[in-house]
Amino acid sequence: MGIKVAKFGGSSLADAAQFKKVKEILFADADRRIVVPSAPGKRSSVDIKVTDLFYECNRLAAAGMDIQPTFDQIAARFHSIADELELDVDLDGYLDEVRKNIQLGTGADYAASRGEYLNGILLADYLGWDFVDPQKGIFFDEEGHLDSAKTQEMLGKILKEHKYAVVPGFYGCDTHGNVRTFSRGGSDITGAIVARAAEADLYENWTDVSGCLMADPRIVRNPEPIRYVTYRELRELSYMGASVLHEDAIFPVRIAGIPTNIRNTNRPDEPGTFIGYEAEDHESEYMITGIAGHKDFAIITVEKAMMNAELGFGRRLLQALEEEGISFEHMPSGIDTMCVVVSQESVEGKKERLVHRIHELCSPDSVEIHSGLALIATVGRGMVRSKGISARLFNALMKAGINVRVIDQGSSELNIIVGVDNLDFENAVRAIYRAFVVKEERW
Ligand code: ASP
Repeated sequence: MGIKVAKFGGSSLADAAQFKKVKEILFADADRRIVVPSAPGKRSSVDIKVTDLFYECNRLAAAGMDIQPTFDQIAARFHSIADELELDVDLDGYLDEVRKNIQLGTGADYAASRGEYLNGILLADYLGWDFVDPQKGIFFDEEGHLDSAKTQEMLGKILKEHKYAVVPGFYGCDTHGNVRTFSRGGSDITGAIVARAAEADLYENWTDVSGCLMADPRIVRNPEPIRYVTYRELRELSYMGASVLHEDAIFPVRIAGIPTNIRNTNRPDEPGTFIGYEAEDHESEYMITGIAGHKDFAIITVEKAMMNAELGFGRRLLQALEEEGISFEHMPSGIDTMCVVVSQESVEGKKERLVHRIHELCSPDSVEIHSGLALIATVGRGMVRSKGISARLFNALMKAGINVRVIDQGSSELNIIVGVDNLDFENAVRAIYRAFVVKEERW
């Protein structure tokens, strides 16, 4: 018998009707033995997430204000689930304890974590599974980072004692024994950590979309779904702005060799997106896997004749950036030119000082900073094997009348990154999508 860890997001557990769907999904496969719930999310676009209500309670308590009206909204959310499902849980007892602790000033992490905690208690009762509190098995170190080794050991041990378990997402325990949360959206991370500790065969991440799409649906109408993506490709796509999973949810499963399957709670028959390893048997229908990108980068262009003969030029250039606390994204470079792409925000208010310092350290012929650059990554594991990818891509951009200001192809041949004017961003994404994905067009 294998183990599948199933994490359900906030919209998948937003009310009693969603709880019913979750139960059906879990009971449809005996391998689904560990479930990681989020806090109840939005039931409609105007609704408020329970986590946000808890943060608000904490803010009010810290300001010495009355938390009761906000807390009543939280209590009503949990009551509507417990009552409709006729759960046998002393919900008022739990709510009372949580309210008192928030009022005593237990802090933002404690307050925010209670959405997952209470939802976990309700779900465990509804399923008849054991409740495992992550405060006893997920640990953070002094710096607030996950203590992987300790977590792996303790959580692994705990999970072995339960055949079927509910482990709330989003939080663990700090070095003083207090609740500590991950960053927002962190239940994804808990799911991955739990999958690793349980030595699961699969990490299922159930959400309200049927997986990843080949491009942003706000830019391309009805983009094709991605059926299979490797962890490396996903990293490239999410780095460039495609939001699928929390960034930190990839590492624990990736190093443990566990694939991830993104599924839709509202459409459980759809296969979703499978995230795995380089595999010849997962040929994509298209030459590329996906397109992602975002706006508002700046490019620093430094020119100096015979730069290649000068030892330490690159190091001194990066030193100037480091001194200003600016981290760089890419460094596409020519023979006598070195370019550094940074986020526009990170150079705001520092441009003059930076240019001055580059002059001091590197004595270049010229330094220019241009803002308003958008970067677009076209990602695909198939690129290594296919010919003519860049020709097709640049041809498409040329036909769309788009001027390419930066070109960068990673040495892994997993992506081609182009930089265009912010104003051309959407058109460029659409042109690339059409070039690679729309079948009826001839090239
Ligand atoms: N409930 C938390 C949040 O809203 C964590 C999560 O849902 O993943 O950020």
